Amino acid sequence: MTTNETAATRARAVIPGGVNSPVRAFGSVGGTPLSIVSASGPRVRDVTGRDYIDLVASWGPALLGHAHPEVVAAVQDAAARGLSFGASTPGETELAELVIDRLQVDGRAAIERLRLVSTGTEATMTAIRIARGATGRDVIIKFAGHYHGHSDGLLAESGSGIATLGLPGSAGVPAEIAGLTLVLPYNDRAAVEAAFAAHPGRIAAIITEAAGANAGVLVPDPGFNAFLVDTAHAHGALLILDEVLTGFRVGPAGWWGLEQRAGAAWTPDLITFGKVIGGGMPLAAIGGRRDLLELLAPLGPVYQAGTLSGNPLAVAAGIATLRLADDAVYRRVDAAAAAVSSALDEALGAAGVAHTISRAGSLFSVAFRDTPVRDYADAKDQDAWRYPPFFHAMLEAGVSLPPSVFEAWFLTAAHDDETVERIIAALPAAAGAAASA
Ligand code: PMP
Repeated sequence: MTTNETAATRARAVIPGGVNSPVRAFGSVGGTPLSIVSASGPRVRDVTGRDYIDLVASWGPALLGHAHPEVVAAVQDAAARGLSFGASTPGETELAELVIDRLQVDGRAAIERLRLVSTGTEATMTAIRIARGATGRDVIIKFAGHYHGHSDGLLAESGSGIATLGLPGSAGVPAEIAGLTLVLPYNDRAAVEAAFAAHPGRIAAIITEAAGANAGVLVPDPGFNAFLVDTAHAHGALLILDEVLTGFRVGPAGWWGLEQRAGAAWTPDLITFGKVIGGGMPLAAIGGRRDLLELLAPLGPVYQAGTLSGNPLAVAAGIATLRLADDAVYRRVDAAAAAVSSALDEALGAAGVAHTISRAGSLFSVAFRDTPVRDYADAKDQDAWRYPPFFHAMLEAGVSLPPSVFEAWFLTAAHDDETVERIIAALPAAAGAAASA
């Protein structure tokens, strides 16, 4: 019989580390990664046939739960009409209209044009190229602990797998390219002002996660995103809001929408989307002001392209997902996240484990320290060794958490009350395992 161990051994013989993306390797929690054969609703099934309640949700895309019948039907229907044409399709236009339409609060639009790509990495890479093309400047500001994909300029002090594996950045990135990225502490206004003062006329853009979710959840201080837009503009630079993870997940108009609904009134120059926008298929996008997006070829001098960009199956999944993601879906995800995060808080408290929970909308994460986490330095300053026993106790109980303390937990609209109760029931024993670690 195939086990997760035999599947991993076989994979390691042909795939580096047995994985096609490093965070899947259980690098920081140890043990054998699950080899998944199918998923449905809130559950995934491994090669042995065991089911787990899943809080990874494909790292975000599965907002509706896995294999939602209407999304699957839309993809099957698209597949029957052809897998890829290398030409424009009506579906691409429909998806762009849907996204532009959703990115409005009180009649104020966040974006005017949208270009589809296949991964979040391409989206942020292209957004930066547009910003450089528009401003004629080279330097980019990013924040420590934020992850924007794996392009050369964006891996320094990055979150996600770079944080999980404790790496400073990546080998293979030329120093000249890394030197064009200024890495600043998150939520630090003085550092942003000092960077602009130190590099007058050289900074093209600030790129920021709308709310940080790749070094655990890093909540932006109230007004921080608005401050970034204002400061960038005061110095002739642009603000790129990375909503690859938060977009269409924390609310119908992403984190931007949550802030606007709470009374803010700021507009980023460019927004990047990924994950939920493709409903589990490879799809991502760059949106923004018309004058900026129309710098892209064929209209303008900034080049970007993709053989599979706007792939019809991915577009079909994205349209079906966004059409289904109504207010009731977000209420359900919010309620499930609130129930699980407060039970987590309670269980760790009862077990006497120092902890703090960071929450940005329906995204949350735990850090094993007793003071709030505001930036990457805080996130690293915790008893991270308590997470592996906690993680494995949950897995033993049939709940699959993200295999790193530096990742957010993802609930879906398919996590119904019974599923949430099962997660909650598993927490006290896992908290006990964390306490005795
Ligand atoms: N930006 C953010 C905020 C992300 O969370 C991610 C992926 N986790 C990316 C960009 C990169 O997306 P992809 O993995 O699709 O390249």
